[in-house]
Amino acid sequence: MISVDAALEALFKLVSPLPTEAVALKDAAGRVLAEEATATRAQPPFDASAMDGYACRAADAHAGARLKVIGEAAAGARFAGHVSSGEAVRIFTGAPLPSGADHVEIQENADRDGDTITLTDPAAPGRWVRPAGGDFEVGAKLSAPRRLGPADIALLAAMNTPAPRVTRRPDVAIISTGDELVMPGETPRDDQIIASNAVALHALLAGAGALPRMLPIARDTEESLSSVFRFARGADLIVTIGGASVGDHDLVRGVATEAGMAPSFYRVAMRPGKPLMAGRLGATPILGLPGNPVSSLVCGHIFLLPMLRVMLGLPAALAPRVTARLAHDLPAGGPREHYARARVARGEVHIFDRQDSSLLTVFAEANALAVIPPDAPARPRGAEIELVLLDTNSEHP
Ligand code: AMP
Ligand code: MG
Repeated sequence: MISVDAALEALFKLVSPLPTEAVALKDAAGRVLAEEATATRAQPPFDASAMDGYACRAADAHAGARLKVIGEAAAGARFAGHVSSGEAVRIFTGAPLPSGADHVEIQENADRDGDTITLTDPAAPGRWVRPAGGDFEVGAKLSAPRRLGPADIALLAAMNTPAPRVTRRPDVAIISTGDELVMPGETPRDDQIIASNAVALHALLAGAGALPRMLPIARDTEESLSSVFRFARGADLIVTIGGASVGDHDLVRGVATEAGMAPSFYRVAMRPGKPLMAGRLGATPILGLPGNPVSSLVCGHIFLLPMLRVMLGLPAALAPRVTARLAHDLPAGGPREHYARARVARGEVHIFDRQDSSLLTVFAEANALAVIPPDAPARPRGAEIELVLLDTNSEHP
């Protein structure tokens, strides 16, 4: 049995970044930028007005100054003339500053009478001018790798990078195993249950930028399992669920080995999730998750997402952790690292009493996994504890 850290290190050796592709900006949200992007223009490309008001010379901007309005500059419609001393141009937000002007006075500080304005309380020189290149200059870079959010996409658009290079989405084959399983919506026999894990992992993977596909459920026979394995050909990663412990019906390791899997490790000192398995089938990494619904999803967060990040070109790293204070006393931990389902709010964490790895109702209330290290001593209420936040996308106030 190996530690969680050692297992992750072994998993990182099984995966590497996938090739890249160019995608349109509207399709780039959530994708990982693979090559730094370079601005082909500055923003703003010209000195621009930040307000509606009057453009003039800073030297003229004193209280009581009377200026003659000689024209208008709007966004997308520059004033073609020149502003001399004693003159002003009506200007609107986003318009280029006219030649000769280096100051904008907001309209609230200018009394207008016909073609003349009188400044009442002028701003500091240039206060309302956005200088050319003030946001970024030509040649500015957006560094890679980074997962693109809406603000990054706006920045790439402003840089006039219409099709950034991103890492291809990993094709992840998900295989459920078990005679007891039927797909959601089917009618189970009285000795069957619904396969909940595959759709959960599908959701987790899709949310993290993969292209998951659910293969048919493999039955607990070697033939069924090896034929489903064949459907997984071409995948960038194969994820199996269940059938990885040591029972008579746990055939995944045997069948994968028969098919030529080079094993990496089997069994991790964690709770939940002990019967985790990994290896490589040809060039394709395989991650064998435990069958219990909570175990498979916890291992999804702790192992699968970090693997996926590496495949997407992001750095190899543990699932990020934060700290919070215990809302209650916590008894001493057991010999395996425990990822306890918990709910954190305003920096205080409540660890649920019921931690059995089959309890989806408890997991659905959790928004964090409290990390209790092996043989951790008892801790009092108020002590700090590390958490892995679950990006669940679910809201339940
Ligand atoms: P196993 O590792 O195959 O012995 O499975 C452990 C437990 O998880 C058993 O109670 C299985 O019925 C359950 N299980 C296995 N696979 C799934 C699945 N895809 N969805 C829900 N439960 C599962
Ligand atoms: Mg099974």
